[in-house]
Amino acid sequence: MKIVMLGAPGAGKGTQAVNIAKEFGIPHISTGDIFRANIKNQTELGMKAKSYMDKGALVPDDITIGMLLDRIVDNDCKNGFVLDGFPRTIPQAESLKAALSLQDARIDHAIDIEVPDEVITKRMGGRRSCPKCGGTYHIAFNPPKKEGICDNCGTELVQRADDKPETVLERLKTYHDQTQPLIDFYRNEGVLTEVDGTKKPDEVLADILGALR
Ligand code: ADP
Ligand code: ADP
Ligand code: ZN
Repeated sequence: MKIVMLGAPGAGKGTQAVNIAKEFGIPHISTGDIFRANIKNQTELGMKAKSYMDKGALVPDDITIGMLLDRIVDNDCKNGFVLDGFPRTIPQAESLKAALSLQDARIDHAIDIEVPDEVITKRMGGRRSCPKCGGTYHIAFNPPKKEGICDNCGTELVQRADDKPETVLERLKTYHDQTQPLIDFYRNEGVLTEVDGTKKPDEVLADILGALR
């Protein structure tokens, strides 16, 4: 089961990827989370990525593709994976396709979570994230059981630096320019499922699981 999540920043990719990963017992791989972990640990990769992320731009393909292709050959990926935030450009999708085809494999499903820009800008201000496990919450729409604390691991939740309104607008622009074309890419591959991301999180999950089964 090899799955990619598509959708604008804030569409609910991370929220649903966690659920899908649990359901199928496969790893949830978020390139954003990998970059943030590298920034926290002040690695060279993290230093390079940060300047782009702060602007709401994409980290260049030559950094991102190698990092992701290294990750999906890890042992825990034997039965598949859910990619959240990758691919984000056509060259990323082409590289992923080429790497998988060397192992006679392919992406089985691309789930596009559709949410209009106006809804996104409203959602982002309330997003809270777990810096330890990558859990995602919303202060109104998807609150943790205990305010400000991650349900999974008990860590204090934070607001991401790139969730401020100006950066969100930049990220939406970047999405429409560079990432949205992937919807047609995966439609042409015959693996695209589109779901309405404006429904409640558990309804979106039900629609996704219905398509995957
Ligand atoms: P969101 O979940 O809101 O879409 P992510 O956590 O996926 O945000 O990504 C945060 C930032 O990390 C992006 O704005 C971008 O700068 C960088 N990033 C993440 N994944 C990629 C990728 N596949 N290619 C280039 N940049 C990426
Ligand atoms: P992405 O990974 O696509 O950037 P997230 O999964 O981080 O998106 O979700 C963005 C914000 O919207 C989070 O605060 C999350 O809790 C909230 N959210 C996710 N799905 C829904 C939904 N169906 N309805 C309302 N809010 C949602
Ligand atoms: Zn956590």
